Amino acid sequence: MAVHVLDAMAREGFEQVIALHDRDSGLRAFVGVHDTSAGPAFGGIRRFPYRDERSALIDCLRLSRAMSRKCALAGIRGGGGKIVVLDHAELQREPAYAHLGRAIERLGGRYYAGPDVGTGPDELRWVATETAYVTRPGEGGPGHLEAATAAGVFAGMAAALRADEGEEAWERRTVVVQGLGNVGQVLVERLLARGARVVGSEIDPVREEAAREKWDIELVRPGTEVDVECDVFCPCAMGGILHDLTIQRLRTRIVCGSANNPLAHRRHGQRLHELGILYVPDFVVSAGALIRGAEFHQTGRATALDEIERRVSSVVGDVLALAAAEQRAPSIVAIEEADRRIRERRRAARTPDAASPPTPSPAPGGPPVTS
Ligand code: NAD
Repeated sequence: MAVHVLDAMAREGFEQVIALHDRDSGLRAFVGVHDTSAGPAFGGIRRFPYRDERSALIDCLRLSRAMSRKCALAGIRGGGGKIVVLDHAELQREPAYAHLGRAIERLGGRYYAGPDVGTGPDELRWVATETAYVTRPGEGGPGHLEAATAAGVFAGMAAALRADEGEEAWERRTVVVQGLGNVGQVLVERLLARGARVVGSEIDPVREEAAREKWDIELVRPGTEVDVECDVFCPCAMGGILHDLTIQRLRTRIVCGSANNPLAHRRHGQRLHELGILYVPDFVVSAGALIRGAEFHQTGRATALDEIERRVSSVVGDVLALAAAEQRAPSIVAIEEADRRIRERRRAARTPDAASPPTPSPAPGGPPVTS
């Protein structure tokens, strides 16, 4: 089925979608800019072997829009964007990322890029050869973004346990972590340090073996983690993993993880609610890297992990309290609140004299921020 790009853009309020092709490197990519009414569109670069162009475009649109919601709820002066790269065996990564850097530069500050699945320090460095509108890895950058994400997810889990059972009591908890990548690994460390029992799953045999050597945790076959009885199911791999077939197998009270868009469809948030499973919306809980990356870009300060924990915990607490008071699914309550804030930002941008956010100052030596 074809995707009607302009219809989808109009329906979801997108500002811009760009298709990129580079003959020399084999790059094929989409850039989504959802909202710049309060500041630049922040979003990572995802490189993934998409089945086809359609799934890549849909992923780009969904992820960009989720980033706008993430910004709105986390109080970031910016909106959502995303780049998705269709990975393939012939892709020449270094020139492909440099090409992306030139495309980002041409956007003149409307889009600010960061890491995502398939894009780590090397790739960011290649982008940074062509543009300043990118998160710098290592020295001169905002530091360990995965730790910031994991800090938020951990704080979100704690808030959900308090809301659901009145206490965290980690030493009595079992947490299933799906995906032992950058974020999953930091979370495992934090959970073990608190005395929780951790069950993990990982499709990459090298990472699975590394986990086996490093920690005394139970590892289960990918695809069977949803059957494990636990207090918290923590998706830290790819999106779309909670759907009609997997949800009915879950044996958990809480779902809280970093994976972007883990619900295959909006109705699955409602389904979890009906089953009495507390779902902490992904775009609320995984905001740690965005908070750190965006604020570093805008102020030159790397937000401390405990501040990230406090902020994420507070938003999660508010969303869960509102959902409980209204007896509605947290996923729906959070989307409505985020979309209300985005509409307000857009209204404020159209009427500059109204309470529009001040123009943020760039990081020392960094590029100007356009809004
Ligand atoms: P990553 O690629 O380092 O880790 C993901 C891991 O999941 C990989 O090791 C992969 O092999 C594994 N995996 C993939 N499919 C799996 C499956 N079906 N079962 C088990 N394991 C599977 O990515 P990451 O940076 O750790 O991010 C994890 C998720 O969190 C992604 O969805 C990402 O978009 C999201 N996220 C990450 C950040 C961040 O700061 N890195 C911020 C916000 C959201």
